[in-house]
Amino acid sequence: MPEKRIAVLVTAAGRSERFGGTKKEFAQVEGRSVLDLAVSAFLSLPGLAALAVTAPPGREPETLAALSSATKAALESLGPGRFLLVAGGSTRRESVRLGLEALAGAMGITANGPSGGPSGGEPGAGPAGAAGAAPAAAPEAIVLVHDGARPWASERLALRVARATAERGAVVPLVPLVDTPKETGPDGTILRHPRRESMGAAQTPQGFLFGPLLAAHRRAAAEAGAAAEAGAASRDFTDDAELWAAYVGPVASVEGEISNKKITVLGDLPGTARGASGAGGTDGAARTVAAPFRVGQGWDIHRLVPGRPLVLGGVAIPSDLGEDGHSDGDALLHAIIDALLGAVALGDIGQLFPPSDEAWRGADSRDLAARAAALVREAGWEPGNVDCTVVLERPRLGPHRDAMRESIAAVLGIDAAAVAVKAKTKEGLDAAGELRAVEAQAVVLVVPRRG
Ligand code: MG
Repeated sequence: MPEKRIAVLVTAAGRSERFGGTKKEFAQVEGRSVLDLAVSAFLSLPGLAALAVTAPPGREPETLAALSSATKAALESLGPGRFLLVAGGSTRRESVRLGLEALAGAMGITANGPSGGPSGGEPGAGPAGAAGAAPAAAPEAIVLVHDGARPWASERLALRVARATAERGAVVPLVPLVDTPKETGPDGTILRHPRRESMGAAQTPQGFLFGPLLAAHRRAAAEAGAAAEAGAASRDFTDDAELWAAYVGPVASVEGEISNKKITVLGDLPGTARGASGAGGTDGAARTVAAPFRVGQGWDIHRLVPGRPLVLGGVAIPSDLGEDGHSDGDALLHAIIDALLGAVALGDIGQLFPPSDEAWRGADSRDLAARAAALVREAGWEPGNVDCTVVLERPRLGPHRDAMRESIAAVLGIDAAAVAVKAKTKEGLDAAGELRAVEAQAVVLVVPRRG
């Protein structure tokens, strides 16, 4: 495949209803998002011309943020307009169609294929007929459609599907069934006992000649629209292979990969209670560690000087000494900011709000903490609870404890019941004990963002 005629569509527009409301594509595996891993299988595919990712409408920024900088750089190297973030539709089929339309526009693909094929499931013109309509000199463009919740597809699998698609027109990777399948009726009675050897479980990426698949999707969309207008139910397709079979023709298969699992529920992630498969897992999964929560830790110290306000957790505390610092010097919020950023591995307070940047001179640390919390949410997480210790010789912080908890909770957008502030003295020892400094420590738990 010398010419760059391969398009890749990674679908991530679903709502993850079986994943506790969190978008499973944003979940972290080994420090990378599921979506980033799903995209990475295609980045070195020879002939890759364009790649699109579908996102739930309005959640494009989060979807983009779920991609690592290395992945984004690789996608940008495809050329201007060759990486597309596409708002999905109300169904999987519609999201795929919108993604295909965007890719076709970027690559100058025209729909060719099922001009008058039946919609009832009989084979139509077939991929061979469709391929015949393309100019003989140029290899026909193909598109690989991959599920954004499959982080462990290998580059080898992507290449195998692409090669087979160029030959066969439509290809699905299959893995053997482990358990014996039975077909049941509505009351659970077994109607058929199919041979396990004759069946397989379908994976992605699925590969298709681009023009005919686009044409088939347009027809399916038109028919669904007409059915909706008539108040009738439209035909449901579980995947693009079924849609291809209905409008275009037969679908070939290649060997899939046992490790190419789809993440459906939180427990599918390795490291979670139900997802832990031990050291003997398959190659992709065995090395990964993920959890249904992450934790961050932060520490800060500021000099105490006369003539400055003492601000802790956003609360001004009457004192003859206050924090020296570039911003308001709120050591407690600074420790919390570092813990928030640490939990999602987004750097530290000095990187985000550099002291060299005049924009942060005298900044209200509550604004900085709110920004850090927003970054945590953009990364697909949200603060769960916060536990802090302030080391200050005097004044006593007990009378201000609840005000600090309320203030921190308001800044982070969580309940005050989830915020603990403990006050310690240093028994006259070290800088804090000698009233030359105030220290603060914070631990933050973050959990997958709901909605
Ligand atoms: Mg500080």
